[in-house]
Amino acid sequence: MRRFFFDPNTRLGDKVTLSEQESYHIAKVLRLQKDSQIELLDGLGEVFAAVVVDVGRNVTCRIVGQRETVETEKVPLWVGQGLLNGKKMDTTIQQCTELGVARLTPVVSSRCQGRPDEMQGRRKSDRWDRIVVSACKQCRRVQPMEIDEVIDFPAMLALTNQDADLLRLIFWEEEEEVRLDDVMSADQPVTGVCILLGPEGGFSRSEMATAKELGWQTVSLGSRILRAETATLTAVSLVQYLVGNL
Ligand code: SAH
Repeated sequence: MRRFFFDPNTRLGDKVTLSEQESYHIAKVLRLQKDSQIELLDGLGEVFAAVVVDVGRNVTCRIVGQRETVETEKVPLWVGQGLLNGKKMDTTIQQCTELGVARLTPVVSSRCQGRPDEMQGRRKSDRWDRIVVSACKQCRRVQPMEIDEVIDFPAMLALTNQDADLLRLIFWEEEEEVRLDDVMSADQPVTGVCILLGPEGGFSRSEMATAKELGWQTVSLGSRILRAETATLTAVSLVQYLVGNL
C-alpha cells in the first residue's frame, strides 16, 4: 500500500489535507484517483488507513482506520555533520535517513567548504525535508529524521553537553588507538549516542582539543583517511549496528 506523510495539525476530524509535495506525488506521479486506498503517516509513529477524497493541488483524504503504532529506535542516534558541499550534504541526509538516524545537526566548523548561508538556506527551504520524506517512503521509515538549524561547532558542543547520559563520539583521522568497539559494547548499554563527523577539510586541532576537554571521546575508523561522506556512512552504519538499530 502506498504511504504518504501528513501534518497532524492539518487533521480535522477524519479529514486530512496533504502538502503540495505529497499531493504532487499522488496526483501527478502516481495518478491516483478519488477513492484510492492509501496509508497515511503522521510522522510521529502512527500509521492510518485512508482513502483519497479529492485530487487537486492539495489532496484531501479521509482516515478510515488505524493500522499500527511504530515504536521509535531504542537508542536514538544523533549525527553532527560538518557542512559538506551541497550535493554531498544531500546524499548524506538521504543515507542517514535510510540508516535510521534520529536527528542530524549541520555544523559549521573552521575548515568546512559548504557555505553556511547556502546551507542555512537549504534548511529553511524545504529541500532537505523533501529528501528526508522521500527517503522515508522508499525505506518505509515512519518517523522522519529531524534536521536542526545550521549551528557552529561551539554551539554543537554546548547543545550536546546538556545531556549527561549521551555517549559523545567524535571521529578523528588522527586518533590512532581508540576504535568503536573500545567505547561501545553490549555490556556497556547506552541510552543515546551523538557522533560528530568533520567536513571535507576535517576538524582543526584546536576544535579537537576543545571537544576533548568537554568529555568527547575521539574515535578512529582505521588508518586510511576516508572521504567525509564515506566516513559518515561508515560511522553511522557501525554505530547503528552496535546499538542494535540495524
Ligand atoms: N582533514 C583531513 C581529512 C578529513 S576527512 C585531510 O584532508 O587530510 C573528513 C572527516 O571524516 C573527518 O573530519 C573525520 O570526521 C572523518 N574521518 C575520515 N577518515 C577517518 C578515520 N580514518 N578515522 C576517523 N574519522 C575519519
